[in-house]
Amino acid sequence: LIAGNWKSNKTTSEAMEWLQKLSAISFQLSAKECSIVLCVPFTLLYPKRRELDLLRLPILLGAQDVSPFEDGAYTGEISARMIKELAEWVTIGHSERRTHFYESEELLIRKVLQAKKEGLRIIYGIPDSQTSVPSDVDIVAYEPPSAIGAGKSAEDPIEANKVIEDITVKQNISAETLMIYGGSVSPENIASFVAEPSIDGIFSGRASLDAEKFSELIQNASNA
Ligand code: PEP
Repeated sequence: LIAGNWKSNKTTSEAMEWLQKLSAISFQLSAKECSIVLCVPFTLLYPKRRELDLLRLPILLGAQDVSPFEDGAYTGEISARMIKELAEWVTIGHSERRTHFYESEELLIRKVLQAKKEGLRIIYGIPDSQTSVPSDVDIVAYEPPSAIGAGKSAEDPIEANKVIEDITVKQNISAETLMIYGGSVSPENIASFVAEPSIDGIFSGRASLDAEKFSELIQNASNA
């Protein structure tokens, strides 16, 4: 699984440009080789949904957050039911949400419950092997903060594989849950991550912002 996280980036026109570029690179994907999920800002969910359907690109859409409440008087919040109309996935527990927005374990569990109730699939981010994973998430993304973002370097793939194995065993993660790695993944290093036996895919921030790099990530992972 290749997942992209656009974070707080791109206007609608920039997002449309990205899609045009991607389809111009004759983006050929076999669903048998990998699944692709792109987590975009809320403002882009509707235009992305419309364009992906028109271009028939095999990319699943994800939101980057979800309200811990149902629909109602919660100013500024986007409920799971609202997301479900436009996207299949949501990412919860990203280390940027934990750090900059002080999201607690208790809050994250409430978000997971709301997402599950509406049938959204969940990519749950954890920064280390000590952080607990709620039951019933579909994907666990191990993303060490020391590897995320500009100026950082990716973790050693062998070490990332070890941590992922540790998480799987200690937290009794079910065999159906995919385990992915995130943090400075690039077209150049992606093969070394997906070649590891316990790494089922990657989560990419910066590289997913560039259509050419994103397509290279997918091609290089598929070839590996
Ligand atoms: C991320 O924040 O999920 C991430 C992996 O970012 P980057 O690829 O830019 O390090």
